[in-house]
Amino acid sequence: MAAIRGRDTAPELLVRRFLHGCGFRYALHRRDLPGQPDLVFPARRTVVFVHGCFWHWHGCALSRLPQTRRQFWEAKLSANRRRDAAARRALRRDGWQVLTVWQCELERRPVEVLGALAAGLLSGGVT
Ligand SMILES: [Zn+2]
Repeated sequence: MAAIRGRDTAPELLVRRFLHGCGFRYALHRRDLPGQPDLVFPARRTVVFVHGCFWHWHGCALSRLPQTRRQFWEAKLSANRRRDAAARRALRRDGWQVLTVWQCELERRPVEVLGALAAGLLSGGVT
């Protein structure tokens, strides 16, 4: 499950299609970087994470815990959150700009979220 859940999700595909259409070029899931960012823009020294709200425990309505096995889920998802935070810290320490897109925000306000993402990319590194 760990190998599947973060890959090629609908929100991620939307982000990829949009950025590719804007002319941005990227690498996917670079294993040599902390947290294996979903998209990597080496020349801009920028990475993008597209986070599913449940697995990354956003705290919004989409990330409500299941009714059963709550302790299990709480432990698992809080470990995911800690791992995400550690990856962000490590990337920033190495000079990367880290941009995060949340599933719920992308669904609610796609134009604003994608526009902010493109602006963040343009502000990072060289062209
Ligand atoms: Zn959310």
